Amino acid sequence: MSDSAVVGDDSLRKVAVVTGASSGIGEAAARALARDGYHVVVGARRTDRIEALAAEIGGRAQRLDVTDDQSVEAFIASLDRVDVLINNAGGAKGVASVADADLDDWRWMWETNVLGTLRVTKGLLPLLEDSGDGLIVTITSIAAIEAYDNGSGYTSAKHGQAVLHRTLRPELLGKPIRLTEILPGMVETEFSLVRFSGDEARADAVYEGLTPLVAEDVAEVISFVASRPPHVNLDQIRLMPRDQASARRNITTG
Ligand code: NAP
Repeated sequence: MSDSAVVGDDSLRKVAVVTGASSGIGEAAARALARDGYHVVVGARRTDRIEALAAEIGGRAQRLDVTDDQSVEAFIASLDRVDVLINNAGGAKGVASVADADLDDWRWMWETNVLGTLRVTKGLLPLLEDSGDGLIVTITSIAAIEAYDNGSGYTSAKHGQAVLHRTLRPELLGKPIRLTEILPGMVETEFSLVRFSGDEARADAVYEGLTPLVAEDVAEVISFVASRPPHVNLDQIRLMPRDQASARRNITTG
């Protein structure tokens, strides 16, 4: 973090916004950025969780539903400085072939991952530019570069989110905003629990027989990205557990 960010004087501290900070990667990223000296604003729908996190890290919690225009507008209106935006809110719903696709699951995934990222990013671009050294980190997935059976709702949404993020890089050329896409493989969070509608046995089975990444592994990468000097843009970072070679292949699938 640069010298201009002085811990202890809130008016001088750099501000990092983390969407989807109530669990998993977002929660770990918020902790890591707070440790790095940022004043972290955490957003999610489960306010009890983000309030507890904000109290722990000395940040601020603000309810955020990225699928809701008014919620995003209120979130953005509560901010007067943003140096770093972590577009993390997202997830998957269900596993189904295209033939059996559930339109409501698709809508959830596209609204959350794609339009949610668009709403928040579009709204925060002016503040990120005003900061003089803005950074947008978007957590896409290896599902943004691979298609796999029974995953088309999620893989297509992650491809869409990634293309939105990647398009900003040339569009913002000449402005003081950096862009980093992080593409994780398997990370043990609440991701599978959400995907399988709270079915714990099914969620646990996803990680049986292998050692997945944990949220802190991705948070460390986010912390590294945010600590590069202003002229360095890390465009894409792909990380997976050693036990995984692709979205379709890991040590349990052979
Ligand atoms: P997670 O533990 O389920 O966390 C998802 C977060 O997104 C939660 O904080 C949730 O908060 C938030 N969220 C969901 N819908 C939201 C909405 N409408 N408005 C605001 N926040 C919302 O899963 P995770 O693994 O940390 O996922 C974080 C990101 O990493 C996602 O974009 C996911 O697609 C991506 N990713 C995950 C993996 C993996 O294997 N875990 C791999 C690659 C990429 P509330 O429910 O409280 O709103």
